Amino acid sequence: MLVYVNGQWLNDNEATISILDRGFVFADAVYEVVRIYNGRYFYLDRHLQRLKQSLSALRIDVDVDSLEIVCRELLERNKTDQGSLYLQISRGAAQRVHGLPQGLTPTVVAYVKGLSNLDTSLQESGGKAIFYEDTRWFMCNIKTVGLLINCLAKGEALSQGADDAIFHRGEIVTEATSSNIFIVKNGTLYTHPNGNLILPGITRQVVIELAHELQIPVEEKPFTREELLAADELFLTGTMAEITPYVKVEGRTIGEGKPGCVTRRLQDAFSQLTRSL
Ligand code: PMP
Repeated sequence: MLVYVNGQWLNDNEATISILDRGFVFADAVYEVVRIYNGRYFYLDRHLQRLKQSLSALRIDVDVDSLEIVCRELLERNKTDQGSLYLQISRGAAQRVHGLPQGLTPTVVAYVKGLSNLDTSLQESGGKAIFYEDTRWFMCNIKTVGLLINCLAKGEALSQGADDAIFHRGEIVTEATSSNIFIVKNGTLYTHPNGNLILPGITRQVVIELAHELQIPVEEKPFTREELLAADELFLTGTMAEITPYVKVEGRTIGEGKPGCVTRRLQDAFSQLTRSL
């Protein structure tokens, strides 16, 4: 696999970064994952805009326009039909101090991965989730590589035979380990509002736009675990998950226990959009 590391194009087994890199030492780094459909990026502009916000929140100074050129060249060199781009930027390498050393050269790593034999069975039949107390920090809108709690939650879900974990702060449902959450109740979509408790998902936004086109009402307001369990339909949205229905949470059946018709309509609209790229 061809990897871009700080201006160099290398094979993945030749690519190295410093052990003093602050991404490695402090998770002082941000990232994006962008889907590739039919050899084209899906909303690269929106991902780069979010990346700009993440970088600015951490006060890492990188010219995002030059990153766009790297992303485009990567796809050009890797001719990938269906796949994803991973792009990570850390503050750079420095002696280990907690302050923010000035004048570092940020470490930029990017690669494209093909998706062959993508398993879409969850999207068809629906997944099972557990609840997991959201003990993450209060800056979940920044897409940092500090994903340890997400990993612990996902690991716990898998160890219980579920597919994912749904985070909640007290009774309020926030998001899942790598996706946003929507419920459907009496024909209306509900999802947690953007802010510091969730990542402003690109797929979440696309789904809201598709819902508007389909005249499905959307309310961006918090809902409780109880409301989630009483929902007619539940689905997660994300770059890799796309729109994935969930039909069981903590062993309780959601709606009729199968992907519902609002979810299906949105899945159809979403796949039309990605096929039309
Ligand atoms: N929330 C979290 C915590 C995530 O990691 C992701 C995946 N990036 C999402 C939501 C969904 O965001 P997007 O639709 O932009 O992939």
